[in-house]
Amino acid sequence: MASLLFRTFSPAGASARLSIFIFHRVLPAADPLLPFEPSVEHFDWMVRLISRNFNVLPLSAAARRLQAGTLPTAAAAITFDDGYADNFEVAWPILAHYGIPATFFIATAFLDGGRMWNDEVIEAFRKVPEGELNLHQFDLGSHQLHDTASRIRGYEAVLGKLKYFEHVHRAEVAREISRQATVPARGELMMSRSQLRQLRAAGAEIGAHTHTHPILEGLTDEQALAEIAAGKLEVESILGETVTVFAYPNGVPGRDYSVRHRKMVEKLGFVGAVSTEPRFANVKADPFQLPRFTPWDRTPQRFAVRCLMQLWNSGG
Ligand SMILES: [Zn+2]
Repeated sequence: MASLLFRTFSPAGASARLSIFIFHRVLPAADPLLPFEPSVEHFDWMVRLISRNFNVLPLSAAARRLQAGTLPTAAAAITFDDGYADNFEVAWPILAHYGIPATFFIATAFLDGGRMWNDEVIEAFRKVPEGELNLHQFDLGSHQLHDTASRIRGYEAVLGKLKYFEHVHRAEVAREISRQATVPARGELMMSRSQLRQLRAAGAEIGAHTHTHPILEGLTDEQALAEIAAGKLEVESILGETVTVFAYPNGVPGRDYSVRHRKMVEKLGFVGAVSTEPRFANVKADPFQLPRFTPWDRTPQRFAVRCLMQLWNSGG
């Protein structure tokens, strides 16, 4: 039933519609502090549903075939941002089980024991004792923590503000908050270089996502170019092959990156790039700004309906 609907809404060829899914983490067990990240069970049924209803391609092939007008019916790509170790340990075995390709965008500064600024903050809010967490010294307010919900509200408020701090300052503030909460500086959250090589060897597509994951719009052009180039070169030196796809950090067009960065990405030799604008892509889409959306529904029925709504609603 669903398959026919998906084929109808998303035909092959010149009028094809490409759905690109964004994931970040797949948790080995549900984590109350991370209610929007799928657990292994949740991810399993999502991939099963995607595999039954879509023809999934690696992103570079999907981008190429979109432009050529040769996509199959119900075309989709699955992407993961940032380079979390659970992508290799938890998500990949499920994708492999269903025979589904996926593309992984790696922020290279955090490989081998690093931690992104957002995770520094989340782990601090996990660890601090109940009571008041005063972050006025960083201009990040004061937070009353007494249960999981208040910890989530607290870190979401801090992340929302900190996201647009100057990016070196952002990392320093996040590290200082987590240091005060006695979160160790190094962790196992992100992939190692060895895991990245194994993921590629197993058949995954690997893309670039800058070196330190800055909001490109907040950088000078020289800094932005250096960040994009460094991320590409580092993945290429780890894997010994050319990297052809890129994901803009945070990815909102016009706010997080602009046409200047899109030109840099093309000049650096990428063949495709993805934003986080929540639409499907059609043949007129810019291959260097392909839209994507995050599937966050809690039940298979709602998820299927959302995928169809995406295809129905957001033409253009
Ligand atoms: Zn990212």
